[in-house]
Amino acid sequence: MWDEALDRARRFADGWLASLPERPVGVPVADAEMRARLDDRLPEEGRPAARVLDELASALEPGLVASGGPRYFGFVTGGALPVALGADWMVAAADQNAAARVMSPAAAAVEEVTGGWVLDLLGLPAEAAVGFVTGAQMANVSCLAAARHALLAAEGWDVEGDGLAGAPVPTVVVGEAVHSTVLRALRLLGLGSGRAVRVGADDQGRMRPERLREALAAIDGPVLVCAQAGQVDTGAGDPFDAVADLVAARPRAWLHVDGAFGLWAAAAPARRHLVAGVERADSWAVDAHKWLNVPYDCAMAIVRDPEALVAAHSTTAAYLTLGGSDPSGRTPESSRRARALPVHAALRHLGRQGVADLVERCCTLARQAADELARHPGIEVLNEVVLNQVLFAPRGVDPGELSQAIARDGTCWVGTSAWHGRPALRLSVSNWSTTPADVTRSTAAITALVDRLA
Ligand SMILES: *Cc1c(COP(=O)(O)O)cnc(C)c1O
Repeated sequence: MWDEALDRARRFADGWLASLPERPVGVPVADAEMRARLDDRLPEEGRPAARVLDELASALEPGLVASGGPRYFGFVTGGALPVALGADWMVAAADQNAAARVMSPAAAAVEEVTGGWVLDLLGLPAEAAVGFVTGAQMANVSCLAAARHALLAAEGWDVEGDGLAGAPVPTVVVGEAVHSTVLRALRLLGLGSGRAVRVGADDQGRMRPERLREALAAIDGPVLVCAQAGQVDTGAGDPFDAVADLVAARPRAWLHVDGAFGLWAAAAPARRHLVAGVERADSWAVDAHKWLNVPYDCAMAIVRDPEALVAAHSTTAAYLTLGGSDPSGRTPESSRRARALPVHAALRHLGRQGVADLVERCCTLARQAADELARHPGIEVLNEVVLNQVLFAPRGVDPGELSQAIARDGTCWVGTSAWHGRPALRLSVSNWSTTPADVTRSTAAITALVDRLA
């Protein structure tokens, strides 16, 4: 009964995955063409599963991006380790609802064990609670909901029951180079992104401790400080020890860290100094689908005080109670997939050493890319390449034009950004399968295009 459908899916997967290393990366296709290929009429009559899957495989092909391949350097995009992809298929086949322990003891146990492993690997407090969510966006929401709970509870205010009207709302402090998803989390939680106090950052986007000191001195009452590990353009981490000292010196304060990709530096001994002191925070958001290379979508919301995370998220109904021991009692979601299993499989496969190697290898390749690009007189590398991010700009060539030319060429794909008002391109090495040869081939293509456009 399942064979036909799964065989077709397997055939598609084999073809797609085999094409990843060599297919053009990021060939643009018009939206209208993709829509037309899918046909916009809902069929009146059904058709067999095998035919549907074959039709989809060929219809979707031109609109698929080789973002899991070795020369996709856009955004901060991980691929899928084979073991994680296999585990993800098991998740779909078993189709467990990971909301509650009673619905799937297996899924609940996987989350608990895997959460513990992640804390160990990242050097975070063993007593922290871990919620598995879709991405660092939702991890930021979950962590900041826990912060909101704890800070307001300390003021004698029940925010879950009474909401925010009239509440002694904490003042939020963010760095100038904060990620947009932290601001969205503040909006969703009623804390307001516009009210956040913005603290000046240095040329790598690191929060300046002296500016934070000044900002905190001007604030009365509870305060929520949002720092980050891995600024998305530069890869830089905030000076966590200095930040944590300032936050610790204050009553009624919470320190959150958005570590979507940069927190993984803690898993590589040679990079750990980049996030020294990060373990002193109260909460951390970290992605698994970026640097750990599990399939979309998976991230973790980690909170030192489990009670705060659970109080912000748990729910009760006559037929369903989602408390601290249930996976969904630690996230905003109810029904959910067993998304911790691919993380578990990846960690079991790589081990502590393998994760450290993966992180280190990507950093080394980013350094290589930066060196190869900087050797060209028409290219300037704009950041200190300390992690996996390379920010660069062409001289005398429009960066937007260059990025489009790179996309058309198809050897690799890089994203665009702006740094201190200057348009730039951003190359992020986050894929497990990228090799030194992939980097050289990509930088050669980029420099050739700079020559052609100059
Ligand atoms: C990618 C990223 C996010 C958002 O992560 P999603 O997985 O897209 O939800 C948040 N913060 C930083 C620093 C990031 O790099």
